Amino acid sequence: MLSLTIKEVSLALREGKISPIELCRKCLKRIKKTQHLNAYITVTEELALKQAEEAESRLLQGVYQGSPKGILDGIPFAVKDNFCTENIRTTCASRMLKDYLPPYNATVVQKLLDQGAVLVGKTNMDEFAMGSGSTDGVFGPVRNPWSYAAPYREQSGGADDDCDWVITGGSSGGSCAAVTSLTSFLALGSDTGGSTRNPGALCGAVALKPTYGLLSRHGLIPLVNSMDVPGIVTRSTSDAAIVLEVLQGRDLKDSTTVQSPTSHAGFSEDFDVHNLCVGIPKEYHAPGLSQETLAHWSRLADLLEGAGARVREVSLPHTQHSIVCYHVLCCAEVASNMARFDGLEYGHRSTEDSSTDAMYAASRHEGFNAVVRGRILSGNFFLLQQNYERYFLKAQQVRRLIAEDFEHVFSAGVDVLLTPSTLSDAASYSNFILEDNRTRSTQEDVFTQSANLAGLPAVSVPTALSSRGLPIGLQLIGPAFQDGMLLSVAHWIEQRVGFPSISNYEVPNK
Ligand code: GLN
Repeated sequence: MLSLTIKEVSLALREGKISPIELCRKCLKRIKKTQHLNAYITVTEELALKQAEEAESRLLQGVYQGSPKGILDGIPFAVKDNFCTENIRTTCASRMLKDYLPPYNATVVQKLLDQGAVLVGKTNMDEFAMGSGSTDGVFGPVRNPWSYAAPYREQSGGADDDCDWVITGGSSGGSCAAVTSLTSFLALGSDTGGSTRNPGALCGAVALKPTYGLLSRHGLIPLVNSMDVPGIVTRSTSDAAIVLEVLQGRDLKDSTTVQSPTSHAGFSEDFDVHNLCVGIPKEYHAPGLSQETLAHWSRLADLLEGAGARVREVSLPHTQHSIVCYHVLCCAEVASNMARFDGLEYGHRSTEDSSTDAMYAASRHEGFNAVVRGRILSGNFFLLQQNYERYFLKAQQVRRLIAEDFEHVFSAGVDVLLTPSTLSDAASYSNFILEDNRTRSTQEDVFTQSANLAGLPAVSVPTALSSRGLPIGLQLIGPAFQDGMLLSVAHWIEQRVGFPSISNYEVPNK
């Protein structure tokens, strides 16, 4: 039951074949069984059961009268812990917000609740969504469900669990682990530089970063306002299209949102790739790209070409600057965003009381981890009067050039770009936390950050298991507001590659 798609489970609920309460109980039980993954920070058991009961009374009547709230009525979902949830602890995996209870729901959360979806919990992440591992939160690292499935276990020789598990990627690792370990049918992530697509690729989930402005950011605790978007994590492309349709659209509480385009976001399950023009950006043959990921990338390009698509090499010449450009702009916006956490209005307050300034400094020092503090410091440095032109202004100009690279290829007839999502499959935790691999993980964002700098839609779709038995994802990037077309192409790929569900290999207990 837990491995059904949203479409299937929605139908089964409406036909009375599954009861929402039973479904909710099963998810909660599975959350307990997979606790070792550390995917959830807060499990909203009581609330979930109450919401499931309400869905049950609607749906049971519905068998005769048809009164479900929406397509997601009775379906369990999870939310990354940087989206505000009314009276439910929202921590950003930080000591700073350890006990924060928001007084309202983020718009995207509210939209899911309005459909009757059942909130099972808030998911783990890197502190304030800064990171690519989901290893940096105050609640500890998230473990990749595939670490415990047979394909990886067989390859790693069944070595000791405690040092051998692999990371989920990040920063939305909890959401991706929740969806792929079958504890929820969909989850919200956030994507500022790749945080939904990166863990999506490493955990074998479909991970959509919608066009900037298509989904409301109201209630998403900001990292980089000019790049943040709510991300959608599901187990299939059709499910992602369903969720996208529910979430998209103008929100008066977020002035950067726009009216959604066509219904169902232009998604089609029988999209014809004949004559589709697929661009392969040559700069994405980046240093550190694994042979295996490269081979899958070429295999997929051949598959599309064999089916009649026109596949051609394109150039995005400013790609090489995206990491540095992202870094400057990210830190600058972080410095300004984090100013609100002063120990007075929100979150952690130090006991230091010798002066107001000392209280501010101590609260921020105790509340934020070293990654967050480092970005605040860098950001304030970039924004100093004497540095502003040299760093911030320059980075904004480079950002424009990166966006123009995409405009050029799309206006020259390319419909969609096919790229890797990450450099390789997931690193083991012990490798990832070594200093040089951290640097590597920053480099890895080279495939994902440009789409955020340009505001474009991008989706990571699982395509294969590596020789280590771990998921490999590929990414599609499209023109603004072509999210539906992007999911249609992703669906075409999904149908052909036959990526296995983790339910084929029962996830054993730790
Ligand atoms: N890895 C990137 C960073 O740490 C992206 C984070 C994100 O998308 N939230 O900034």
